[in-house]
Amino acid sequence: MIARLNHPDYDRWASQIRATGGCRQPIHLRGKIEHYDRATGALLHRYTTKHEPDGILRVPCKTRRATRCPACAETYRADTYHLIRAGLIGGKGVPDTVTAHPTLFVTLTAPSFGAVHTRREHGGSVQPCHARRNAGTCPHGQVMSCTTRHSADDPRLGEPLCPDCYDYTGSVLFNALAPLLWKRFADSVRRHLAKAGGLALKNLRHHLTLSFAKVAEYQRRGVVHLHAVIRLDGPGGPAMPPPAWATADTLTQAVQHAARAVTATAPAHKDQSERAFRWGSQLDIRPITLTGDLTEQAVAGYIAKYATKAAECVGTLDRRINPLDNLDAFNLRDHPKRLIAECMRLGALPELTELRLTNWAHMLGFRGHFSTRSRRYSTTLGALRAARQHHTRDTDITTGRLPLFDEDTILVISEWQYAGKGHSAGDQLLAAAITGTRLERSPHEL
Ligand SMILES: [Zn+2]
Ligand SMILES: [Zn+2]
Ligand SMILES: [Zn+2]
Repeated sequence: MIARLNHPDYDRWASQIRATGGCRQPIHLRGKIEHYDRATGALLHRYTTKHEPDGILRVPCKTRRATRCPACAETYRADTYHLIRAGLIGGKGVPDTVTAHPTLFVTLTAPSFGAVHTRREHGGSVQPCHARRNAGTCPHGQVMSCTTRHSADDPRLGEPLCPDCYDYTGSVLFNALAPLLWKRFADSVRRHLAKAGGLALKNLRHHLTLSFAKVAEYQRRGVVHLHAVIRLDGPGGPAMPPPAWATADTLTQAVQHAARAVTATAPAHKDQSERAFRWGSQLDIRPITLTGDLTEQAVAGYIAKYATKAAECVGTLDRRINPLDNLDAFNLRDHPKRLIAECMRLGALPELTELRLTNWAHMLGFRGHFSTRSRRYSTTLGALRAARQHHTRDTDITTGRLPLFDEDTILVISEWQYAGKGHSAGDQLLAAAITGTRLERSPHEL
């Protein structure tokens, strides 16, 4: 830390750190960019990392995982918020007529895999967890009742009343099949809509587009729920209205039907026969309106929040697990440990290799994307990033760091090499001091 502070290039280092926005694990790049005049071949401008502190340029890691880098995850969260919101009220290239399109906020839940400790509030007071008069005893001698009024941070929340009764196999297989279940759900919604419009499925896209944005949320018990914004557009996407028959009611019926109808089957393995999974019976469908109790801000904020979380809230690990790792060495609670161990056990079975459970054990079997959107939902994360880069480039030109050039007459040659990642312990402290305030969220986006 002292060496860094006393170094003559400290100011340049600090400005690099500021440019990474407080990234906890910046990527180190070594290389150069040269601008040549196409006509004369003259070198107009050269940037090289040779003269940068430590001979490297530090750029943000751009992770979406808040546990890995709060600053970059915050950028990802804000981008996700804006693109979900644009799909609800317009903006970023989406016309505001989109507010008139039927739009639902749908939560698809997982079924039960056994009784778990829960916290329920009723009229402002916390209810007993599982109060059962004459509760039976399970084969493992556990009374299947819990009268505790759990506090919100009780680590037992989401953990089974009897771990030996709990269906760990079902839990991880459901997570593994959730992406397929979603795909079948969306297909079924489309089929139902085509039928409602008197159309053949293959012709539906000439009349209607089913647009969606979805996010996976881990429940404390370690299974995923999916939250989705589902919207009906015309054939060209959000710029065109859907046909008159495609109302919010029609969409609601299609969603209700699809959520109950679809299944995804895990292949038979060892002594188990094949097993079909479906969504849980709790299905939440709410229309999103500008004035109702479910506003577009609330929905966009909700989805963006989950987009930066993974399974770590369940108490699992933030990285892949090697089959040779000793799970006992990770200091995990029993429940996530059993979920991970079940992924490892099933992942080793030849019948289930396609589910790739070993690779996704740290995610408790779920290998889907956390936050996905259909092609026409709104703008893309890439477009938002490009807009930001453009803005940075414009600033660099006006402040003289980059030459103003016409892209047709200038040849740009760049060479970059990966040269490492992260901060030394001393740099870490200095970087936090320089960018500390940047880690906080802007209040209007909470
Ligand atoms: Zn970062
Ligand atoms: Zn309990
Ligand atoms: Zn039991």
